[in-house]
Amino acid sequence: QCAAVCPVGAITEHNYIENVWNAIDDPSKYVIVQTAPAIRAALGECFGYEPGTVVTGKMVAALKSLGFDGVFDTNFAADLTIMEEGTELLTRLKNALVDKKDVALPQFTSCCPGWIKFAEHFYPDMLDNLSTCKSPQQMFGALAKTYYAQKIGKKPSEVVVVSIMPCTAKKYECYRDEMYDSGAKDVDYVLTTRELSTMVKQAGIDFKLLKEQKMDTPFPESSGAADIFANTGGVMEAAIRTAYEIVTGHEVPAQQLHIKPIMGLGGIKEASLKIEGTLPEWSFLEGVELNVMVIHSLGNVRKVLEEMDISKYHFIEVMTCPGGCISGGGQPRFTDDSVRQKRIAAIYAEDEGKELRKSHENPFIKQIYDEFFEAPLSEKSHHLLHTQYTKRNSVS
Ligand code: SF4
Repeated sequence: QCAAVCPVGAITEHNYIENVWNAIDDPSKYVIVQTAPAIRAALGECFGYEPGTVVTGKMVAALKSLGFDGVFDTNFAADLTIMEEGTELLTRLKNALVDKKDVALPQFTSCCPGWIKFAEHFYPDMLDNLSTCKSPQQMFGALAKTYYAQKIGKKPSEVVVVSIMPCTAKKYECYRDEMYDSGAKDVDYVLTTRELSTMVKQAGIDFKLLKEQKMDTPFPESSGAADIFANTGGVMEAAIRTAYEIVTGHEVPAQQLHIKPIMGLGGIKEASLKIEGTLPEWSFLEGVELNVMVIHSLGNVRKVLEEMDISKYHFIEVMTCPGGCISGGGQPRFTDDSVRQKRIAAIYAEDEGKELRKSHENPFIKQIYDEFFEAPLSEKSHHLLHTQYTKRNSVS
């Protein structure tokens, strides 16, 4: 169930397990690992747990037993993504509505490298519409090799960043030319959920017997908004939780945080939210109907871009995999809708169980802006957390 298998043997994934073992064994390297939001709801399946069992604490314990020097959560970078991407959206809206500039709207999410590559090949005219935010994986890598490396007194080249991702496209993403902003390769190796399970088994670790452990500082905490990045509709909901509170100054009660029309496995979903009670600096948004759309699976993306007029939308989330990252190409196989639904439910339960459910309330996010980035969209955050895209032909 958890082995990477192509039914006809025609496709093989590039596997970096050996490289990661070598890095861990190299005393001159400081090897840290980040785990994406979707891993915790699926890794357990590789060790006999039912689909939808969240195994965050055991996963952290397993990674520590494997010998990583620091175990961190990509969710922290998901919170950072919301700060940057939400601010980018509000800036685009201000430029369009107040300054009457010619701005590319709707803004599309950019955290899925499968979608980025698809847009670069097939819809290069849309590239200005893509958020310039790097994916959370790449934001984390750039942060780890600058902010964190400085904290522990290392050079970027002495720190090795390993990512555990639900995704095979992230293996390609970390080799893009733009992903060396720290002065070294921001993310060194990407392993899938299945490959992590292979390492745990190679090390002879009994996963079920592990005692739960917590992520390491200085990124120990992340919000429920970051958890839901794993599901279709999650990035959009996370962004709205933060943007709405920034614009109105009103706290959204916990029971009203979910945006039901964009939850679930529908391939093309939409919602409309009227913005009311804005703070003075956001008064240009008073009474605006914020129209958002959520799409997953590239066939649905093509359908929207070819057949629909998208000019009324302000923000569109796109994920390549059916259901989002919870059923990415690197997750335990075989995944059908009932498994997807169980993983999605587990991720929403994780979010609902947290006190901290909005990215902008994460105290460690506030700290990182105070200590390092100053503000979203600052010069430093542009350099480390944002990127650009390239029109590509069929072979590049
Ligand atoms: Fe990767 Fe699929 Fe998630 Fe996109 S939706 S980031 S391709 S796992």
